[in-house]
Formats: sequence, structure tokens, C-alpha cells
Amino acid sequence: MINYTERITLLMQDVIARIPALSFIDLREVLVFGRFGRPEAEGAFATCHCMTLPESEPGYFFWRDRVTGELTRRSEWFVTKTPEVRVGSVRVKYLISFVLPRFCEQRLERSWKTELYGDAPSWIAKLDTIVHELYHIDPERPGIRRMEKADGTYAANCHGQRFFEDVVGMVKAYLDSKPDPAVYEFLAWDLAEMTSRFGGAVGTTFRAFPSYPQRYTEVVNPQPAAPEGVSCRVEPLKVPRVHTVFTEDDLVMREFLPHTSRQVIRKGKFCAA
Ligand SMILES: [Zn+2]
Repeated sequence: MINYTERITLLMQDVIARIPALSFIDLREVLVFGRFGRPEAEGAFATCHCMTLPESEPGYFFWRDRVTGELTRRSEWFVTKTPEVRVGSVRVKYLISFVLPRFCEQRLERSWKTELYGDAPSWIAKLDTIVHELYHIDPERPGIRRMEKADGTYAANCHGQRFFEDVVGMVKAYLDSKPDPAVYEFLAWDLAEMTSRFGGAVGTTFRAFPSYPQRYTEVVNPQPAAPEGVSCRVEPLKVPRVHTVFTEDDLVMREFLPHTSRQVIRKGKFCAA
């Protein structure tokens, strides 16, 4: 079977090597993984997740009396944190998830990207998505790249017309650099084609699939003093127990099928030495 997330990673490596604006990226600190999503359903094709965002300031939830406006109760203080993902000795700074098999079916036709690429081959929409996610990696600070507007302030969201145009420029520059077609040819195949060529498509996922490392809430211990001027009932905060450290042992292969996915058990994995 074709290892789809590995193919994407190898293509990313080639893009980074050829596009100076992305050359700061160290792909050892970026982990590509698959999430499940049906082709016919609406939704994202891919997402860039920053894994180095600092702990939040402590906060709390509160409830007010509807009539008097007075605080009636509040939750314990809590913070939100980013889980740690390590592969070997390397701390992963970004996760890039691809929604499979939806991403395999992404096409240029009938999408807003036709305006950007005209009559380019359909698979260029997938290359655009890959470069788009890499471009979200911030070269200067932990987080998702902020786009500066003409007036020097930052755009309210992480996109903006310039972001999309920059991505088109990088996609075209990459193809103009005459990369080996063997590196990107897989973008032309949808899941049916890969199934007939390779018997199916697999990708790296987290063992707790469909769950993956995400920001989580933690009750501050010991609790700081009550917020100034607030004296009301404090309710314990019920937070789900989550995995906060992930390693390569949490990564497994899954096969992605049109309407489902299943874990691939590696032969010999459980053999005693
Ligand atoms: Zn984006």
C-alpha cells in the first residue's frame, strides 16, 4: 500500500529545499498525520497545529445572577496547555494533519482556487494545500504565522489575500524549479487510483484515533487567591483526563478507505524476541 503521509512529507522536504521562503523549516520538528474525513462532506482538507504555544494565563468561568448581575459562583482557576509531542529526541513543534481520504479527492475544478491557477492540472489544488500549511509555520516565534497588512498592523485571522497569493507564487516557483515528477506524481491519484495501483493507502495517525494532541485544560494547583472583590461559591472544574505527552509509541498506521479507516497491524510486531 502507498504510505500517503510519508509521500506528503517527502514532497514537503523537496518544497522546502527549493523554496527559500520556507527553507527555515526543519521537518524533523513537523509531524504529518492523517485524520478521517469523507470526500463528499464539507470541511477542511488540512490543518496546521502549533505544539509550542505557551501555557495560558490562569482564568475561571463565572455565573451571574440574571437580576442583580452579581457573581453567584465561579469555577476553580485553570490554565490551558499544549501537550508535548516527541519523536525520538526531537520535540515536535508543528503537527500538520491531512483529512483522508477527502484530501486525496481535492480538485481544482469547481473550487475557488481556479481563479488563482486557471487551467493548471487539477492536482495543483493539493500542492497548493500542502504549501499553504507549510506557510502557516511562523519563522520567528512559536505559533501560526501572522500576516502583516499594508498599514503595518496584523490581519485579524491568519489568512488574507496576500497569504493566498504568496502560496500561489511558491507553488509556481516550485514547479518552475523542475522537481523530479516522481516526488509529486502521487498528487494526481485519487483513492480509487491508489487502491488499484498499490492495493490501498495508509497514513500515520495517533493511536487514540480519531483523537490527536490538542490544547487541554488543567486546574491550577495550588489554587491562587480569589480574584479581587470576588467572594462567591467556587465549584470544582471537571476536566477530562487526557494524554499530555506523546511519543513515537503513540503513532500507528491506519488504512484509509472511502467511508472508514482501520488500524494496520504490522506483522511481527508482537513477536517475542
Ligand atoms: Zn490556512
